[in-house]
Amino acid sequence: MPSTETYRRRLLQEREALLAEVRKKIQGLSAAERVSEDEEAQRLHEDFVHLRLSLLDAERLRLVNEALDRIEVGDYGICMNCEQPIPAKRLEAVPWTRYRVRCQEELDSNPQSDGEEFLQAWRNLALP
Ligand SMILES: [Zn+2]
Repeated sequence: MPSTETYRRRLLQEREALLAEVRKKIQGLSAAERVSEDEEAQRLHEDFVHLRLSLLDAERLRLVNEALDRIEVGDYGICMNCEQPIPAKRLEAVPWTRYRVRCQEELDSNPQSDGEEFLQAWRNLALP
């Protein structure tokens, strides 16, 4: 089984790649030049596509950062749903994953329980 250090290095690489990608996309946005209306429309469409992709990158980046935090505190490789160890095979494929495959599928098929942060916030509110 690969050591946590292996995952940490992979996560850091992933973070670098994502940051580079996001920077590139932001630079590609609204490059202020005079262009024809047709080109303008085309560019707006491209900006839209870029933004959507950037959101996906940002989400991935958040997961990568979270995984790095979990390595710091020693919780890495533990499913955040059932607290069972996540199999090494899954961690190798998706080092930033929060869940075992079964829990991920369960959560994906049940969008109501997907609002984990919301639930957490709600629980905090409900505390005396
Ligand atoms: Zn689980």
